[in-house]
Amino acid sequence: MKTDIAKEPKKYRTRSVRFRLTAYFVIFALVLMAMLWFFQTVFLEQYYEMEMEKKIQTAVSSLSLQYAISGELDLEKYLQEMGEISSANDMYFYIEAEDESFNISSTDQASAGRYYYGRSGVDLARERLLANNGEPVTFKISNQTGDSITQVYGAKVDSEYRPSVRFFAFAPLTPMGPAVGILAKQLMIVTAVSLVVAFILALYISSRIAHPIHSITERAQEMAEGNYDVQFEGSSYREINNLAGTLNTTAKALSRTEQLQRDLMANVSHDLRTPITMVKSYAEMIRDISGDNEEKRNQHLGVIIEESDRLSYLVNDILTLSRIQAGVEIMEMAPVDLQKCAESVLATYRVLEEQEGFSIRLQTMEQPALVNADQHRMEQVLSNLISNAVRYSGERRDVEVAFLRRDRKWLRCEVRDKGIGIAPEDIDNIWNRYERASSRGARSKGGTGLGLSITKEILQRHGAKYGVESVLGEGSIFWFELPVID
Ligand code: ADP
Repeated sequence: MKTDIAKEPKKYRTRSVRFRLTAYFVIFALVLMAMLWFFQTVFLEQYYEMEMEKKIQTAVSSLSLQYAISGELDLEKYLQEMGEISSANDMYFYIEAEDESFNISSTDQASAGRYYYGRSGVDLARERLLANNGEPVTFKISNQTGDSITQVYGAKVDSEYRPSVRFFAFAPLTPMGPAVGILAKQLMIVTAVSLVVAFILALYISSRIAHPIHSITERAQEMAEGNYDVQFEGSSYREINNLAGTLNTTAKALSRTEQLQRDLMANVSHDLRTPITMVKSYAEMIRDISGDNEEKRNQHLGVIIEESDRLSYLVNDILTLSRIQAGVEIMEMAPVDLQKCAESVLATYRVLEEQEGFSIRLQTMEQPALVNADQHRMEQVLSNLISNAVRYSGERRDVEVAFLRRDRKWLRCEVRDKGIGIAPEDIDNIWNRYERASSRGARSKGGTGLGLSITKEILQRHGAKYGVESVLGEGSIFWFELPVID
């Protein structure tokens, strides 16, 4: 035997919104801080050195350009400018002629005196410059203890007005260690503050999200216990608002379904009780009164038979409807000639023409059109519509079944009557089970109140279009359309 294996719902590792959000915020803050830390400690020193190198080059190129291209060089002014640049930028300059005829340096300026690096620095720079064939050199030197580092730049400057010189510039690099230490301390404070802020923010946001979800869960629990009047409150978050909206609609739908179920039970029991009561009372009548009177007895037995029939129709209809609705009933689809079906259904009503003066006509198309359908079920649809047309045909007793082709693609069937018609306010409800265009004593007309709902279910399962046009007091046209098989 085939057994259905129930699909296991996907299992999630659940954590509260508060926990997740807080964790994410804290991780985010930590990553941010780690990145800041990394850039400040690793790149700060490199960045600083690059900047210093650029600064030296700018200073040197300004001074060496003046030396190279000015026709008249006012040495005093030149030295003064060199001193200014030197003190402004914390640098020391040394210029010597290639032919060793002269040398000048910014140490002559009082403020630059402390940046004197001695001949050894100049010697080293000269060596490098010569080794590099006069191409500019830049490098770093440190003192013996290694706690002071100096950026050195050397270049050869030629001029058509005066001797070629070697230009050297020295700039002390401030050790970054202490600065990085201060930054690290500040970062620690910033990290601590950001963690606290992230924590508080996460708690605040998560409680704003979690609170409405909690209240929705509580309401849903109430709904699960059968209270469909609950109202789900939304929040300022759109997703939660949508959820609340959906749940409100669900609650309404559930409450309607429950109401329908209650009505159905009431209607079914009422409809069952009525024929049973009739059967019982007529049986009692036969036993107590009409037992010996053949004519009366037969009359009463007739009622009993009629009511038993009604009972069996009702039970059959309820069964059919619930089977179709539950999807147990399988539609056996095959090409069907609906016009032939209508002919055979109508044949059972022909007797009404002779006995009760009905006019029942079938208007068919010349070319048969096949549709894909379950023949037995479609006969049931036709039979329901035709029996309704007969039952509600009023005094005029005129019923017509017509087939036509619409837009070439559709086979349209219309069941028309010139009977009592349906009031506009009832027209939407007649397809629902037990809905009757009330107050007109449908029972007396022998219906079960389920015919149109069965018809609707069958047509829907066939993917058919269907509908009704009706004018109260003038008649109705019930129609459906199915696609024609080419
Ligand atoms: P019933 O057994 O009561 O006829 P149906 O489901 O077949 O149940 O129809 C539902 C209701 O729709 C009927 O009670 C009747 O009020 C209305 N109705 C159906 N067919 C017609 C018709 N041809 N003309 C007027 N009213 C109709």
